[in-house]
Amino acid sequence: MTRSVTDIIAGLGTGIHIDGQWRQASSGKTFDVHNPATGEVIATLADGGPDDATLAIDTAANHQKDWAAVPARDRSEILRRAYELLVERVDEVALLMTTEMGKPLAEARGEVLYGAEFFRWFAEEAVRIRGDARRSPDGKSRFIVTQEPVGPCILITPWNFPLAMISRKIGPAVAAGCTMVYKPASLTPLTSLYVTDLLAEAGLPAGILSVVCTSSAGSVVEPWIDSGKARKLSFTGSTGVGKTLLEQCARGVLRTSMELGGNAPFIVCEDADLDIALDAVMAAKMRNMGEACTAANRILVHRTVISDFAQRLSTRMSSLTVGDGTVDGTDVGPLVEPKAVTKVEKLVGDAVERGAQVLTGGSRIDGPGNFYAPTVLTSVSPDADVMSTEIFGPVAALVPFDTDEEAVALANATEFGLVSYVMTESVDRGFTIAEQLEAGMVGFNTGLVSNPAAPFGGVKQSGLGREGGLTGIDEYLETKYISIPVR
Ligand code: NAP
Repeated sequence: MTRSVTDIIAGLGTGIHIDGQWRQASSGKTFDVHNPATGEVIATLADGGPDDATLAIDTAANHQKDWAAVPARDRSEILRRAYELLVERVDEVALLMTTEMGKPLAEARGEVLYGAEFFRWFAEEAVRIRGDARRSPDGKSRFIVTQEPVGPCILITPWNFPLAMISRKIGPAVAAGCTMVYKPASLTPLTSLYVTDLLAEAGLPAGILSVVCTSSAGSVVEPWIDSGKARKLSFTGSTGVGKTLLEQCARGVLRTSMELGGNAPFIVCEDADLDIALDAVMAAKMRNMGEACTAANRILVHRTVISDFAQRLSTRMSSLTVGDGTVDGTDVGPLVEPKAVTKVEKLVGDAVERGAQVLTGGSRIDGPGNFYAPTVLTSVSPDADVMSTEIFGPVAALVPFDTDEEAVALANATEFGLVSYVMTESVDRGFTIAEQLEAGMVGFNTGLVSNPAAPFGGVKQSGLGREGGLTGIDEYLETKYISIPVR
């Protein structure tokens, strides 16, 4: 039976977990976590700082050698068990996630199952780490190429997917044999605390994963980067913070994986099946209340179908029920914090000042809670701020185009390149456009591309490296080549 959220929260750790023990912050400080649907404080956690950070990274470094020596099959089985436990407890984890983050329960369940899949996928990858053995071209040497864990890893995640963003990092790190220090987002740290205990229950030994929650990210992460003990940093979050971390990591030449911001174009050609395109745009726009790096930010629609498409999209958007995500029947939850609503308000105001028309929504919904009405804007000017900024809210901004060349040029007119979407009934046309889009991922007649078995990641300022898929584990492996002369 699913416990009440009060009981689930009461059973969570303190916020700092080092060498298998939950601890208070060395400073004695704490910080609060809020429910975005009510504004209420739901938990008070230990507020980590530099001393806690040092203890955590020392622990990770001390355990690295022994952990790397644990057989891959054993590491695999820990991940497999963690997958099974998450699936068993999907309702409980979803309730916790909705309470701290806001997304409707059905979406939270979806994220738990999606996040759990990273544990299953990497359980399967752990036992398939490959090397290479061959003769040199001149026949004089034997080349033996092995893959070793990169070493202690720093993991940092954003607030918008409290489970999937971290299982996507812990899965491959455990599979590869890396120890970890982890700083969750301060807005939504509770799901991480749950997962920390769940991994211990699944058999992850003490000291392999340390967690330090904090209200002052830099005071924990910078000491980790400068410790000389971490060998890699894997970050998911905004491009701005990612650039700061890249600069900091350059000081110690740390390996980095960067999953950064997006500004996804969503192209609807005139021959698209509009029913498919509408389902896809609703998924790509409204998943997570629009608070996703993969969210359709600029919806480019062929001029001959834009009026029909906009009307039908407005009908779909205006029929959504906005409210507390824990309540049955809610389609759209609150935004994560009050300033997120202010940001969306400003973007819509700017678009309207520059000539956009509001077909539905267009305003905040009175609280308590951080609610904004599902909104459709049409005739959005290409120079409106909404075109160059991640909206991170339930606002669909529509722009007309006349030719495929124009659509591709508009789509690529951004420094970001995470995901793009194209809707057309012509395979040839869709494939040609997909090849021309500057993006790490393309959804062709679909609004959902995320899959643990596929490589997730971006080009340009959307990031470096890929998570998941056949290459996801490589981010946590170092290649070693041994040369043996042939005598
Ligand atoms: P954010 O502000 O960049 O924060 C991400 C993480 O970095 C949080 O844990 C944050 O801690 C921490 N952080 C902030 N400043 C830091 C610093 N100076 N040093 C070290 N860590 C620091 O991003 P967000 O608002 O949480 O998330 C939204 C962004 O993430 C969007 O841009 C979205 O596109 C991107 N995102 C990308 C992907 C992807 O896979 N490409 C997936 C999801 C989200 P605090 O919580 O304490 O601030």
